[in-house]
Amino acid sequence: MGRFPEKKDAKEATVDWSKRHVKKLSFWIGLICYSALVGLVVTGLLIGIRRWIPLPPALFGGIVGGVTGGTGFIAMRWYWRDHYRRFLRTRLNTLGIPICMKCAYDLTANESGACPECGTRL
Ligand SMILES: [Zn+2]
Repeated sequence: MGRFPEKKDAKEATVDWSKRHVKKLSFWIGLICYSALVGLVVTGLLIGIRRWIPLPPALFGGIVGGVTGGTGFIAMRWYWRDHYRRFLRTRLNTLGIPICMKCAYDLTANESGACPECGTRL
């Protein structure tokens, strides 16, 4: 975000990303389906484990919530990381700040047509 010329450009990019990806019904349906699926699987596993190891209800709920929320957060970060980077780099290029789409190297005054850092052709 620090490469945007002004703070308002960075803020606009964040708002635009949110509109395109977070404020969509498909995102929330996907998140709910994911949580339901993982929650059910973890609950099933814990019910199986409880036959051998007694788990107090608070610990049971904590494990289900923690695993579901934790893996959901990690999966979302992993999935969105590349998408978000690509989105921001495209935005910077659109604003006239030449930046390598692959490695984010600053390509200002680059005339070779290739990124000196990673070799990606422009
Ligand atoms: Zn590069």
